Amino acid sequence: MALRSKQDYIGSISALNTELYAYGKQVNDLWDHPCFRPAMEAIGMVYELSEHDGDKGFYTAHSPFIDGTVNRFLHIHQNQEDLRNRFRLSRFLVHKHGACIGARCVGTGALNSLFATTYDMDQGLGTDYHRRLISFIKYVQENDLAVSGAMMDVKGNRKMSPHQQADPDLYLHIVEKREDGIVVRGAKASISGAAIANEIVVLPCTALKAEEVSYAVSFAVPSDAPGVLHIAEAPAPNMRRLVGEEMDYGNAKYGVHGSTHVIFDDVFVPRERVFMCGEYTYAGSLVSHFANLQRLNTSSCKAGHRDLLIGAAAVAADDNGIGNARHISEKLTDLYFQSEMSFGCALASIYTGEKTRSGVFMPDPLYINIAKLQGVNAIWEGNYIVADIAGGLVCTSPTAADLKHEKIGVLLNKYLKGSDKTSTENRIRMLRLIEYLTGQGSVVPIESTHGAGSPQAQKIIIQQSLMKKIEKFKTDAKIMAGIEK
Ligand SMILES: Cc1cc2nc3c(=O)[nH]c(=O)nc-3n(C[C@H](O)[C@H](O)[C@H](O)COP(=O)(O)OP(=O)(O)OC[C@H]3O[C@@H](n4cnc5c(N)ncnc54)[C@H](O)[C@@H]3O)c2cc1C
Repeated sequence: MALRSKQDYIGSISALNTELYAYGKQVNDLWDHPCFRPAMEAIGMVYELSEHDGDKGFYTAHSPFIDGTVNRFLHIHQNQEDLRNRFRLSRFLVHKHGACIGARCVGTGALNSLFATTYDMDQGLGTDYHRRLISFIKYVQENDLAVSGAMMDVKGNRKMSPHQQADPDLYLHIVEKREDGIVVRGAKASISGAAIANEIVVLPCTALKAEEVSYAVSFAVPSDAPGVLHIAEAPAPNMRRLVGEEMDYGNAKYGVHGSTHVIFDDVFVPRERVFMCGEYTYAGSLVSHFANLQRLNTSSCKAGHRDLLIGAAAVAADDNGIGNARHISEKLTDLYFQSEMSFGCALASIYTGEKTRSGVFMPDPLYINIAKLQGVNAIWEGNYIVADIAGGLVCTSPTAADLKHEKIGVLLNKYLKGSDKTSTENRIRMLRLIEYLTGQGSVVPIESTHGAGSPQAQKIIIQQSLMKKIEKFKTDAKIMAGIEK
């Protein structure tokens, strides 16, 4: 079985024995929970689309490892075209779900970055990690599993490296090595879809020093492995899902990330599932491969969010009767320009990308960091533009229950009506979508700013690239000015 159905996926998550807490209560049925079901619906939709892809190769790809069709999120990028197809998929899917599908999307980055680094480790050190990884890749491909990726440690005092922390567990580390595997302890923060994925692939969070060998660890565990505990995110829009109705969510069916903070309380990992165990000199390259791939995926996915935002703002302007005003189309064009600049840079990173020694194709680090950073700017600037276009009702609209109320419903329908061409309900629905997309409740801006790394992380790589070229740029300028020959 290389492609599962949506029902297979939902059934497999429900069958897990995941220890998960949300809003101070233990959650026993994720599918029934108002804050996890929308994220599972989004992942389920990806399964549904892939199952019916036929031989089109849009949602699926041919895996050389199992010699069969696999979901594209589980594919190892063999060439430039593979990477481009994976990149485009995120934007396209966001048009349909408007949410986060980290339980599939981040897995691609984790598996592909490990593919490159385990190969290098085996070549340089004679280890056996690449073979183990390939057998794990075959397992997830053959069973079409949802795989999340957990790199980000909780990190404690950011000025201190892992071995300097007051509490050694603030970065995940190995606490015991056994003949048959390892035992790990620590916590990974804000992991997209970790509880609604079948597997979690864990990576180190930063480059490491010789005294930090126990932090150089990578492995895979089922999301319900004994000792793994999930604590749910609680962004503001989720609260409305606990008290409101479908119309109040903005994104009626999908939405939210389904992220959890994942605690590893002395978790045993069998040897065959360990992909790094102390090789600290390779942690840095693994982290940068993963970061670059996640920046590529987020550059595509956030372009999709901005497309939805442009559409929603245009409808809101129509609903207010000002759709044809010149300044509206100028503002939307500006947002589109900012957005495509990020998407175009990300595409450029694929065209200037390279195959690593392992054979996996990776994006160019400079252009993908520029793309991610520009994408964040476009989101924040876009939020301002769209808040401006949509008006204050984005954050002051009443609820579905108010609209239905015997007395005030009549008043709201009369006084909150915009143009004659739309109903009050539909006007408010669109404003709720804008509220959701602009993250008045935190979803998109915070996720796009920090997901795949804070802006400073991209600036450092861009600055390093410039520093390598600056002397040449200076010399060229001096020659042109006739100062040097
Ligand atoms: C919705 C969401 C989903 C996510 N999903 C995933 C996922 O699936 N997998 C995963 O691995 N991670 C995930 N993340 C984590 C994400 O990668 C981190 O949030 C991000 O890298 C920033 O880390 P932080 O949140 O700890 O912020 P911090 O690192 O604390 O950053 C806050 C500020 O501190 C600055 N700073 C940090 N360290 C230093 C220092 N040493 N010196 C000076 N300044 C410093 C930063 O530049 C920034 O300005 C997700 C995050 C979000 C918000």
